[in-house]
Amino acid sequence: MKLSGQRIIVASNRVPYNIVKSKSGIKYKKSVGGLVTAVDPILSRNGGLWIGWNGSKGHDRDFEKRIEVGREKGKVGYALKFISLSSTEIKNYYHGFSNRSLWPLFHGFICQSHFDKDYWRFYRKINNRFANNILEEVTGGELIWIHDYQLFLTPEALREQSDRDLKILFFLHIPFPNYESFRVLPWDDQILRGLLGSDLIGFQTQRCAFNFLECCKKILKLDVDFKSKKIFYGDRKVEAGGFPISIDFNHFDNMAGSKKTDRYLKRIKSFGGEARVVMSVERLDYTKGIKERLSAINRFFEKYPEYRKKVVFLQISVPSRTKIKEYIELKKEIDELVGNINGRFADELWSPVHYLYKALPQEKLAALYRISDVCMVTPLRDGMNLIGKEYASCKADGDGVLILSELAGSADELSDYSIMVNPYDIEEVADSLHRALCMDLNERKMMMSGLRNIVRKNDIYKWASKFLDYYNNII
Ligand code: UDP
Repeated sequence: MKLSGQRIIVASNRVPYNIVKSKSGIKYKKSVGGLVTAVDPILSRNGGLWIGWNGSKGHDRDFEKRIEVGREKGKVGYALKFISLSSTEIKNYYHGFSNRSLWPLFHGFICQSHFDKDYWRFYRKINNRFANNILEEVTGGELIWIHDYQLFLTPEALREQSDRDLKILFFLHIPFPNYESFRVLPWDDQILRGLLGSDLIGFQTQRCAFNFLECCKKILKLDVDFKSKKIFYGDRKVEAGGFPISIDFNHFDNMAGSKKTDRYLKRIKSFGGEARVVMSVERLDYTKGIKERLSAINRFFEKYPEYRKKVVFLQISVPSRTKIKEYIELKKEIDELVGNINGRFADELWSPVHYLYKALPQEKLAALYRISDVCMVTPLRDGMNLIGKEYASCKADGDGVLILSELAGSADELSDYSIMVNPYDIEEVADSLHRALCMDLNERKMMMSGLRNIVRKNDIYKWASKFLDYYNNII
């Protein structure tokens, strides 16, 4: 990947490290999520600065304002600069506008969106703070790369607060809704103008880019060229496009074959017994389709009793947004569903669902990918979803089947070599699991090798260079 010697400043709501305070002092632990998996390897390799909230409340004097990370294994590493948020700011900007207004609306859960003028006020305030913090670091010529829905207003705020000729890129990791859904947002025009401060706006799919262009045309009445995906905005031209994000294939491939992963694998096997393993993993979020999937697992054991005691379904749910009401309720419902399925079908020492409510380090996850005969990725809507790509990267033996939701962004790339499902169709998902378990080795290997080739060819470095080269060609 060529970055043409340009310094990169990345800004996202959270920096990719959590601060862990212990008796032995402060430690920085890499956090979990698609954005981290995708962008951290790029900065570790190329250097730069990442600005974001450190995840703690208020300003803690114990914490440094800036640290260096990612220097392991001969990499250049990069700097982190922390932004502090008070508890009121967290409540309104983060839990409020970002996660109770934008997140549900952008994922098609309009009825779950809450619109509140205080949420909005704080969202604007924090986006301005991000812009200030970025501008403090600008010396001239750097690429400012802003990520995700928490910072829609930052590109415009940067232009308003600086006379410099700034180079601003934006990438949206979640879906961008169509015009009919987006216009529900009371501040729809201001969000569009905020984004239009960028020079290039990347979306996960071409469909999302099209939705954005259409909103600019219909809501702001701008001149839009749908073919070249350009928006004519005052004296500037803004470009949009679909750039499906990916993972570091080689990193996952190597990690899956590492000694550490082998050790985990041995340990898991010694507890696991003979049952075939079907797995799912994600943050505990209503967009991920966990309840619907559990209903399909229930239906599967009901309809195909010959698989009882022969298959275990492993559900890993990473705690997420645990202060938000909708997430607290969802957790309760999932606990109950798991209890019901196990209560109904468990026999002797076998239970159909094995449920982990925690985040796992990636080596452990790699061991679980390796051991799983089937991986179910069935979100109700997802910008991309990296799990299917990671699963394929960890399957060097070529044996494994991916069941994938038609409503995940990754469906555009992976559908030819996956069993595709509508995640709302419980019967279809249950039957697809049956089909996956019945596939013979040749068919499984053919599907897996197709998946691995796609992910290998389109890894995270390819994504970054496509996006950055595209930008370098338009300026
Ligand atoms: N992940 C992890 N440990 C876990 C569960 C998930 O490291 O216990 C990582 C996973 O490897 C993937 C990311 O979290 O890289 C999830 O990204 P995705 O885009 O699928 O979903 P998001 O959480 O961003 O909505």
